[in-house]
Amino acid sequence: MFLDIVFNLPINKTFTYSVPDRLKDRVSIGKRVIAPFGRKRQTVGYIVGISKEFKGNYQLKDIIDVIDEQVVISPELMHLTKWIATYYLTTLGETLGCAVPYKPQTQTRNVKIVSLSDSLPEDQLKLSMAQAKAIQVVTDAGDLPLNELIADTGISRAVINTLVKKGLLTISFKQEYRNPYKHYTISRSISPISTPDQTKAVSEISKSVCAEKFNAFLLHGVTGSGKTEVYLQAIEQAISINKTSLVLVPEISLTPQTVERFVQRFGQRVAVLHSRLSDGERYDEWQRILKKEAVIVIGARSAVFAPLERLGLLIVDEEHESSYKQFDPAPRYHARDVAVVRAKHENATIILGSATPSLESFYNTHVGKYHYLSLPSRIDERPMPQVEIIDMKEEKEMFSNRLHQAIAQRIKSGQQAIIFLNRRGFAPFIQCRSCGLIMKCPNCEITLTYHLTDKRLKCHYCDYHQPAPQSCPECYGEDIRYSGIGTQKVTEELHRLFPEARITRMDVDTTSAKGSHEQILNSFRTGEMDILVGTQMIAKGHDFPNVTLVGVVSSDVGLNMPDFRSCERTFSLLTQVAGRAGRGQLPGEVIIQTHSPQHYSIQAALSHNYQEFYDQEIEFRQQLHYPPFTHLMNILIRSKDHDQCYQASMLTAVQLKNNNGHNDDIIILGPAACSLSRIKGYYRYHILLKSSKLQQMRKLAIKSIHELSLPNGVDIIMDMDPADML
Ligand code: ADP
Ligand code: ZN
Repeated sequence: MFLDIVFNLPINKTFTYSVPDRLKDRVSIGKRVIAPFGRKRQTVGYIVGISKEFKGNYQLKDIIDVIDEQVVISPELMHLTKWIATYYLTTLGETLGCAVPYKPQTQTRNVKIVSLSDSLPEDQLKLSMAQAKAIQVVTDAGDLPLNELIADTGISRAVINTLVKKGLLTISFKQEYRNPYKHYTISRSISPISTPDQTKAVSEISKSVCAEKFNAFLLHGVTGSGKTEVYLQAIEQAISINKTSLVLVPEISLTPQTVERFVQRFGQRVAVLHSRLSDGERYDEWQRILKKEAVIVIGARSAVFAPLERLGLLIVDEEHESSYKQFDPAPRYHARDVAVVRAKHENATIILGSATPSLESFYNTHVGKYHYLSLPSRIDERPMPQVEIIDMKEEKEMFSNRLHQAIAQRIKSGQQAIIFLNRRGFAPFIQCRSCGLIMKCPNCEITLTYHLTDKRLKCHYCDYHQPAPQSCPECYGEDIRYSGIGTQKVTEELHRLFPEARITRMDVDTTSAKGSHEQILNSFRTGEMDILVGTQMIAKGHDFPNVTLVGVVSSDVGLNMPDFRSCERTFSLLTQVAGRAGRGQLPGEVIIQTHSPQHYSIQAALSHNYQEFYDQEIEFRQQLHYPPFTHLMNILIRSKDHDQCYQASMLTAVQLKNNNGHNDDIIILGPAACSLSRIKGYYRYHILLKSSKLQQMRKLAIKSIHELSLPNGVDIIMDMDPADML
């Protein structure tokens, strides 16, 4: 018996191993093993094939152990990971490493359970007080965990040991699940009466689920239109024919509130997977899925690999979100696209939901790949918020007159406001006024941001930080100017203008402690706070009925990014943030401050008009050969040495262009320095390939890079369908 094994390494090759007799019964395709590899004596590998013969003429090594009792990579998952490895130009081993993430050494956690012995011996009268009490408690309570018995009664471990020795009590083991959401108080919810639009959507989706055929639906519904309710009812349908469901949400939307809505409907049949789980928690959730105790999985990006069998329904909420794309480490996959591929292979139905669909998905409804479903209005005919645009060229202060007054009015009337700015810290730009020196990170080509709370300058791309200087490090001038606006400065300005207001801030800096995220949102939800200041973290999903004003301090941060998706992102972000206003009984108002009031992504956000935005944007994509008309591949070249990096990028581009010859099907741009030309000490150049001929483009890139022999210290990364090219 011989095993084909792959390892979680950037080596595109399977390795053959032999199996010692003692392990022969335990091996099968889809389990993990421990095997010697290279200089390492013990490496985790994945069995991807088993054969009876071995034709090579070298000495094979034995595997050392089989890790899994059950198969952890089903044939479906194997198929999916192979597709990913090919499409995203990675190895199968690296993809499996990402798909089966829990650590092999993770154990089931067993709790010790104390129970009364079946037959009580005669001499039970000779018990001490403490012993008698212990017997009494266990008699009353029935079986109970040992640590609870000790904690609740104060009876010592020694007393219990004696009772076990006497044969009066027994201790047994029972598997306990580490459930991160165990402490929720869950009240059951039932579905409300659907609106006609919801009914239509649910009925089309249900038909597809019951037919057990692949169909993709784009569910385009404005914020608060009841998309989640459609998901819940579609899942009910899947359960009724004994099928499982997978729900993907962006990592920052995976809050307890989101999970709770699903748990309220489906109880313990829901499992949750995300990157903040401990290894133990993740292991236990996997066990519950494998044992079919959980038939609905909610999770972020990597939950697309959840080992559900009989998959009937997949849902990708906020499908336009770029956080579905993984960059580091490989595989650089897009979870939404992987979900579509998984649905197709497993004959399942998939719903892609969004208030602002990605251009790709909306385009797919035009060319007939996806079915279009729409929820055009809010529940209860609540109006969409009034949006107003303020031209900041006319204004001198951080808050325009209009926004200032709107905030004051909310505070006076006891309503709440959200103030949004897509940049954290106090001031992102620090310059000496005497010599003009701009403070930059020594490791990155990025200006340092001043943080008020600890009076330090910080880099937002690496972990570099330093105390804020008293004087210029070049000319010792003492006139240092802190310009630009971050969320800290906004908060401080609000405190100055409205000393009576209660203000809280939510961004990466205030949410690093576990639970702080929740604490901030709760204090706002319960009305302890009047104003919530935050970055895109507050833009998504949250439902605050008392918020009647959303202010966008500056919508220009994203628009000025040199990336072909920057307009799409700005439109979508503004629409999402605006959607936080007026979700309760009171109507909402949105005020957007900008220096480019005429820009189409801002104008379209003003009128909540997705179609208007799409029509403009799609034309520009077509003219410039961008997705959805082509696929992009970004080839990133990194090195700590600038000249080496530049030369390697030139060589790569020449190789690509030579191999491509006069083929017009592939456009090759570059090399050019990346917008973020140096990060964490690495210089960065890139080459961009555009083509609608995927196979050709992939072949060209692989062949060309394979033929190059670049010096040590140069990394080449091929990023298929990149989320950004900064
Ligand atoms: P979305 O996911 O599109 O933002 P939700 O599903 O969260 O919208 O719905 C917004 C609010 O309306 C939620 O509080 C939800 O419980 C409620 N809701 C959804 N559908 C209905 C319905 N048919 N009748 C009454 N309330 C509903
Ligand atoms: Zn840095």
